[in-house]
Amino acid sequence: MILIVDDNQSNLYSLQKLLESKDFQVETANSGEEALAKALKNDYALIILDVQMPDMDGFEVAETLADYSKTKEVPIIFLSAVNTDKKFITKGYASGAKDYVTKPVDPEILLLKVKTFYNLQEQNIAMKKAQQNLELEVKGRRESQVTMKSQIDHFHLMLESLPQIAFTLNEAGTVDFVNGKWYEYSDSEQNFPEIYPDDPDITEEFERCRKKGKALELEVRIKNVVSGNYRYHLLRVTPVYDEGRIKNWVGTFTDIDDQKKVEKEKDEFLSIASHELKTPLTSIKAYVQLLERKLKLDKESSEAGFVAKVQGQIEKLNTLITDLLDVSKIENGKLKINKKPVNLENLINNAIETIIQTHDQREVKIERHGTKPDILISLDEIRIEQVLINFLTNAIKYSPDNNQVIVTTFVDEEAEEVRVNVTDFGIGIPDFKQDAVFKKFYRVEESSLQFQGMGIGLFICSEIIKQHHGSVGVSSIVDEGSTFYFTLPLN
Ligand code: ADP
Repeated sequence: MILIVDDNQSNLYSLQKLLESKDFQVETANSGEEALAKALKNDYALIILDVQMPDMDGFEVAETLADYSKTKEVPIIFLSAVNTDKKFITKGYASGAKDYVTKPVDPEILLLKVKTFYNLQEQNIAMKKAQQNLELEVKGRRESQVTMKSQIDHFHLMLESLPQIAFTLNEAGTVDFVNGKWYEYSDSEQNFPEIYPDDPDITEEFERCRKKGKALELEVRIKNVVSGNYRYHLLRVTPVYDEGRIKNWVGTFTDIDDQKKVEKEKDEFLSIASHELKTPLTSIKAYVQLLERKLKLDKESSEAGFVAKVQGQIEKLNTLITDLLDVSKIENGKLKINKKPVNLENLINNAIETIIQTHDQREVKIERHGTKPDILISLDEIRIEQVLINFLTNAIKYSPDNNQVIVTTFVDEEAEEVRVNVTDFGIGIPDFKQDAVFKKFYRVEESSLQFQGMGIGLFICSEIIKQHHGSVGVSSIVDEGSTFYFTLPLN
């Protein structure tokens, strides 16, 4: 907007019309006082100021405007009919004018000057605004840098106080912070601790996870720099997200060596105990069979019933010991899988038949659904049957009020796998405990008192399926039932 100041109404009017004809927005003032009041209130890109005015002349107005920060940068063009000699022009410039035009005004020249000043001032204003914004942004960034720095310091302080070895890695996977504990196992910040030769390489394993954007969890033995001894540690490296993308990684090594030693001793004990129990049990089984044959008891007699009960209990004990032996075989990497082409449908029917024969007819009702996998699949027949029998036994055991079990099979040609579901309508498993049921010795607390067991059946199942390159899983709703499944690759 342009302000025209003149005490002569007709001059004001003609100048206003001239500028408005060129699309300038114009305001007018009749006196120096009015001009000052308006200039302090509004933002003008240019002031055209008549020099000769009563009371306050143009020079005084310009000098006053130059004293205020709001108006001191506004360009002024003086208009004057007289005072054309050099002395007055100099005074005009000295009092803050940017240009000087004498009356009678040549409209073309005035317009040219107005346009130049107007544009210059507009650019000036835009530049000032940009500068202000820039300053604000710099200030904001500086502030957030300070906050971030204090947050990082706080975070590092927290990592320092952890009992574990803790470190952070940047987005590219380079270690950029380590806590004091790190130096018990490494001599420099950049190098991961030295690992036991047989254990997986940390850098390689982490790179694999970093590329997939997934957390790493690894048990490794690392070397203490002082004692030179290796100790088992659980390494965890987790991505830290910022606005949906990985910003950096936080890692810890937790010492699990003592725990590992106790676990090893327990495994050794289990292995010895189950082996030692197996031999006398096999003899007991043989002698009871012998006794049964020798006694030639009447099938209806109570003695025959007792012998049958003894045999049933021996069978249960045998299963328990076999399971324990399986666990120790898994621990020692000695669970052997002997694959050969087997018709899966026949295998499923055999397993169902075994369950029906070993349970009271009123206790179970097994339905068969889905596409029948009447195909040959390379697998260990005994072990896969063991998995299915385990799923079915659990389905019956954990459904005290419902005797219905459904076995459903799906053949997925595209994924090249077959899936076997065992569905029951029993007690179900709480959401957050579903993954844990495949862990060794895990039993769901809520039901562990009501149902007997050791919590190793599903662990063995998952190891068997793992060795067949398949997967196991469960979906379940408490009080509605569970579906346990396993998949096997078709090839
Ligand atoms: P066990 O039955 O001897 O305890 P498993 O390894 O077979 O051991 O099962 C582990 C746990 O999973 C069980 O203790 C039980 O809590 C839960 N579970 C397994 N199958 C079912 C099922 N069909 N319904 C509900 N809970 C189940």
